[in-house]
Amino acid sequence: MTKNCKYCNKVAKHFVPNLGASLCDEHFLAYFYKRVRRVLKRVGRGKRILIGVSGGKDSISVLYALSALLEEFDLEIGSLHIDLGFPHMEECAEVFKRACERTGAKMYEISLKEEYGFTVPDLAEKVKTLCQACGVIRRYLLNKLAWEEGYDFVATGHNLDDMVYFAFNNLITSNISFLNTLDSVLPPIPNLKLVGRIRPLFWLNDADSLTYLKVIGAEYCTKKCPYYKETKQILIKPLFDDIQKRWPQSKVNFVTSLRKLVRLSPITKEREERMKPCSRCGYPSILEVCSFCRLVEISNKP
Ligand code: AMP
Ligand code: ZN
Ligand code: ZN
Repeated sequence: MTKNCKYCNKVAKHFVPNLGASLCDEHFLAYFYKRVRRVLKRVGRGKRILIGVSGGKDSISVLYALSALLEEFDLEIGSLHIDLGFPHMEECAEVFKRACERTGAKMYEISLKEEYGFTVPDLAEKVKTLCQACGVIRRYLLNKLAWEEGYDFVATGHNLDDMVYFAFNNLITSNISFLNTLDSVLPPIPNLKLVGRIRPLFWLNDADSLTYLKVIGAEYCTKKCPYYKETKQILIKPLFDDIQKRWPQSKVNFVTSLRKLVRLSPITKEREERMKPCSRCGYPSILEVCSFCRLVEISNKP
């Protein structure tokens, strides 16, 4: 039996996990953009935003969604793809380039190998967790380019499922101070050369990006990082999916409740207080030398 959209008489083609209901094309797009707008309203109009684009479904969705809301928010957008040196990921770079052409976003590409002489797989034997090192490198290069090119914010494709996982993981590993970054917008700290961070998909599920790209007819790269299987996400995310099937609001409520607790606690102040300029590169760091500069050093050792 075909079901009707939750909001109109049209056929409902798209299940929306947060609503526990299905929508037609038109109402799905309204739902999707409403949640992206909720984040953009916090940064205000006329901002320059650099999007980190891997080519995967989430970052490609951010690129199209911000392009669609460009005039409404008077945005200027750029888009950066970092070649981290994983073999078989060239397809993602091609998807990225075509998406930049289609949206007209200013395109930037950085090759870790060409700029710094090493790749992420080169670090495999040298660091404890490659995924963590990869994250450090991406965050650093995104912030650096954004700072140099005068962008106000870096946007990433992190979505509600990522945030639920991030929060839960920090709770079970007793790293609650990281929860101070559990937000859709983190303001810039110019005296530390730190641009702001924005997560336009903060209130949307994994499934919503896939639906969005299907509705607008856009391609994305399905190649996963070869190390993905090793991450804890694969174990933890399905637990929350099961809970959400019974209680559609559970993920939104989990994140909202934790954010309320964080606001009430002294850890909210720690982000700025703990950072100072790295003694080598001048970008923000908690230790004397930043994690990125230490990785560069490790990569040079035999
Ligand atoms: P992940 O940790 O793989 O879920 O990636 C988180 C976010 O980082 C993505 O949504 C992108 O915005 C950004 N990102 C990941 N890989 C790259 C890349 N190779 N180049 C630029 N940005 C990236
Ligand atoms: Zn409808
Ligand atoms: Zn440094």
